Amino acid sequence: METQSGKGPHFIEQIIMDDLKNGVVKEVHTRFPPEPNGYLHIGHAKSICLNFGLAEQFGGKCNLRFDDTNPAKEETEYVESIMRDVQWLGFRWHTLRFASDYFQQFYEWALELIHAGKAYVDHQTPDEIRETRGTLTAPGVESPYRNRSVEENLALFQQMKDGVLEDGTCVLRAKIDMNHPNINMRDPVLYRILHRHHFRTGDAWCIYPMYDFAHGYEDAIEGITHSICTLEFEDHRPLYEWFLDNVSVPCTPRQFEFARLNLTYTVMSKRLLLELVNRKIVSGWDDPRMPTISGIRRRGYTPSALRRFCAEIGVSKSNSMVDIEFLQFIIREELNATSLRAMAVLDPLKVVVENYPEGQVEMLDAENNPEDPNAGTRQIPFSRELYIEREDFMENPPKKFFRLSPGSEVRLKHAYFITCKEVVRNDDGEIVELRCEYDPLTRGGEAPDGRRVKGTLHWVSVPHAVKAQVRLYENLFTLRDMSEMEEGKSYNDYLNPESLTVLENCFVEPALAAAKPLDRFQFLRQGYFCADADSTPERPVFNRTVALKDSWAKMQQKGQAD
Ligand code: ATP
Ligand code: MG
Repeated sequence: METQSGKGPHFIEQIIMDDLKNGVVKEVHTRFPPEPNGYLHIGHAKSICLNFGLAEQFGGKCNLRFDDTNPAKEETEYVESIMRDVQWLGFRWHTLRFASDYFQQFYEWALELIHAGKAYVDHQTPDEIRETRGTLTAPGVESPYRNRSVEENLALFQQMKDGVLEDGTCVLRAKIDMNHPNINMRDPVLYRILHRHHFRTGDAWCIYPMYDFAHGYEDAIEGITHSICTLEFEDHRPLYEWFLDNVSVPCTPRQFEFARLNLTYTVMSKRLLLELVNRKIVSGWDDPRMPTISGIRRRGYTPSALRRFCAEIGVSKSNSMVDIEFLQFIIREELNATSLRAMAVLDPLKVVVENYPEGQVEMLDAENNPEDPNAGTRQIPFSRELYIEREDFMENPPKKFFRLSPGSEVRLKHAYFITCKEVVRNDDGEIVELRCEYDPLTRGGEAPDGRRVKGTLHWVSVPHAVKAQVRLYENLFTLRDMSEMEEGKSYNDYLNPESLTVLENCFVEPALAAAKPLDRFQFLRQGYFCADADSTPERPVFNRTVALKDSWAKMQQKGQAD
């Protein structure tokens, strides 16, 4: 069997292999259970790859289940974005489920617990319930309502359901053990009153189940064999099992926990991401700086790169922080192999080739991708007036500057050698133009006399170039580990003011005007870019996915040297 990492099986793969071998399960059935209260982030991608991946590997099934038990925060927009993101990642669900479809069944199981004397209606306030929970070292205190009769509890629960009680009047609690060493087992709340319109069930219900109570039952209804969640639920597992053990469920799923994904320089919580959107710190959930799947997609990442990233970081039981540079390394490797090359000048400086005939245009052959012999070639126009990158010229260069300077000769990629003859300034003393000469014998970039140049520059032809907007992105936050914010500070204090740079005056080769959103390119010597959703043929817009420079390899070398 193929493992997700391509190496040895991770601990969940091992558990499933053993379960299948020992006949504990016949077929693997997993689920991905997002709450539709926001857009998915890259942490969710890890869970998606794990759950859907296991079903694929072991010939089983994986459901997409919306855990829509809290009407206060959930919306159809989120449901749709989640479905889109899962599909974009390349996965197909076996069935699409909504926890809200099980509300009646949950209710009946709650009745079953009441009948068995295992649940009671508590009229304490939420504060009282919290305060009487106890601590790790002190036991909890039993509620004065704990020993109500079954009849009384049934009648009160009926009132809760009938809508005659206001929000917060009372709750239904499990009757387990207020002295339990695990605080989660100290009579957890099962149901609360909430007079809120639910986006699917409307006003049919005014009591809503709590996550711990509902989740195992959702799994049981769907026949889930391996219910996989993140480590913070490890302490909830005894409760998960208690709920399943104390009513007549059709099957008994088991819960397994793995470490969540944390990435440097970002936050991975829907609540915080929603705040960034609402406060307009970003342009929306799909802002290319967001760690959301939709943001990462708009930034130019591919589904295969995200899947490879999730496979490479692995699945384990210890929490860790993954360097954002590793994600960038993965996409850079893929785009190096697959993306078409193009020339784009982000900060233009005009070059006039004085000995090139005025009005002449010639088409030059340019390879589309030197890494891919099948990618073919394209034709790019060359003329007397060109743009080069302003930083590729220095009037008084230091010793090892191999680009253009007065009197020096460089190669224009796919074109000719040029030599700088004269620098033209405006009244403010700014350099506005370079007068150069080309050597007609160097067409294609080689000199017949074997003369060499050290620098090769990218360029575009002025009359043919298309003006474009280019957006450069940096990390949204300045703190490497956002869980280590200083006391009294909030994420606001760590927003990176330079996370977005918009360049309005860029020029790209003419073919790029036809780029459609998500078309990907390597801009030679600049990095990997993709056309943005805002792009039009009149005004192309490109997002920088990632720069060319491999900071991950550097970090690795440094790590080894330390
Ligand atoms: P958030 O705190 O961002 O809202 P959540 O856990 O509340 O995340 P859910 O919609 O409940 O979000 O999550 C759906 C699934 O995705 C769960 O099984 C959860 O464990 C998993 N998941 C969420 N965040 C991560 C993460 N950072 N790494 C791995 N899995 C995650
Ligand atoms: Mg959640």
